[in-house]
Amino acid sequence: MNRIFAGEMIVTDLSHTVAPGMPYFPGTEAPVFSRPFTVASHGFAEQKITLLTHCGTHMDAPAHIFAAGPTLEQLGLPHFVGSAVALDLTHAPGPVIGPDDLLPFRSLLAEKEFVLLRTGWSKHWGNADYFRAYPVLSEAAALWLAGFHLKGIGVDAISFDPFDSTALPVHRAFLSRNIVLIENLANLESVPAAEFVFCCLPLKLADGDGAPARAVALCRERKKKSAQLSPLRRSARRAGNAARRQ
Ligand SMILES: [Zn+2]
Repeated sequence: MNRIFAGEMIVTDLSHTVAPGMPYFPGTEAPVFSRPFTVASHGFAEQKITLLTHCGTHMDAPAHIFAAGPTLEQLGLPHFVGSAVALDLTHAPGPVIGPDDLLPFRSLLAEKEFVLLRTGWSKHWGNADYFRAYPVLSEAAALWLAGFHLKGIGVDAISFDPFDSTALPVHRAFLSRNIVLIENLANLESVPAAEFVFCCLPLKLADGDGAPARAVALCRERKKKSAQLSPLRRSARRAGNAARRQ
């Protein structure tokens, strides 16, 4: 279930599941999962997970590419929550998103703290196409976005730079300004274009150059519509209420 009702809020999960066989950036190390303790053998269950800090849905700190850059713990909790806008770039003409693709969204960006780039690429999660020619910002587009007062920017693809990039110009454009990056987001088609809060909480690692994170969108349920909930939403709401009582 990717959406739940919590009081007046709708909470949408924007994270991929951490699981054996999950995609990881080719050339790095695969995550390793084992079950050293099980209820059947030990009376309790614990899994063992060996995971690079940039695996799955995760956040990049400036320390990811700048040796003296802030780590996640130095940025702290206020840097991980804020007002957000999702830009629908699913119809952008090519794999490179340029300034012209972003300009129509200019008025939506004012006073926002996070920008999420909805490219539609998360539909390839789990197959080889996920790593091939995924959409990326041009350096000019990245510098234009980096001129806004953002805490972070997210995308539903494996990286902000092309697969074979070593210069990492888009990473540099944002991380040099302490704008964190969130990669491998999911379900961006389920969030509204604007008027929501993005909350992405990375693991509280010491010296975190990055960390896996649970990313969600929080948006207010519209009162008018709540008076005429469809049967499906009524049952989803009942399930949410029942879950809260447990
Ligand atoms: Zn990363």
